[in-house]
Amino acid sequence: MAGSTRIGVLALQGDVREHARILTDLGADVVLVRRPEELARVDGLVIPGGESSVMDKLSRAFGLQGPLRDAIAGGLPVYGTCAGLIMLADRIVDAIDGQETLGGLDVTVRRNAFGSQVESFEIDLDVPAVGTPPVHAVFIRAPLVEHVGPGVEPLAALPDGTVVAVRAGNLVGTSFHPEMNGEPRFHRLLLDAARDRTGIAA
Ligand code: GLN
Repeated sequence: MAGSTRIGVLALQGDVREHARILTDLGADVVLVRRPEELARVDGLVIPGGESSVMDKLSRAFGLQGPLRDAIAGGLPVYGTCAGLIMLADRIVDAIDGQETLGGLDVTVRRNAFGSQVESFEIDLDVPAVGTPPVHAVFIRAPLVEHVGPGVEPLAALPDGTVVAVRAGNLVGTSFHPEMNGEPRFHRLLLDAARDRTGIAA
């Protein structure tokens, strides 16, 4: 295979394996990232779903918070799903005490926004940025995007207008989990951005 692109999956906590599988199927060379040296080797990064408050604590304990912030500011393409979107948000509503994010996306997200009675649901969403057919989106104790700053492009919304996917520069975030049902098109966006940045032909 001609020069495959190295994509990291932040592997502190969460559904790492599902992301690794999709990325491998797309032809990426997958690196599980738990230390700064691993982060330094990747051309793009997925921050998985899981529990953002735990991921935040572990990223600080593993000395990754600073390197992750620097990588994001330096233009590393990053895709965050669910807890990963929370990690990328500049502001969180309903965070736990002391919870920090990496930031980079000028959005406000509300954690666990859909309430206990509908903690999980699935719906087909039109996402023009990834084309047809609609994306079958799985929401699990998902955040919603409450405020979108200038320069942030909403990529998808629920029928009531609630924004659930965004993009700004090198960063993409979705409230839902495409990796749960083998939906590859968001990961392909990440891979394309990583290839553009490194100049490796697809
Ligand atoms: N509720 C979780 C959080 O706050 C996110 C859930 C998920 O990633 N599926 O981090």
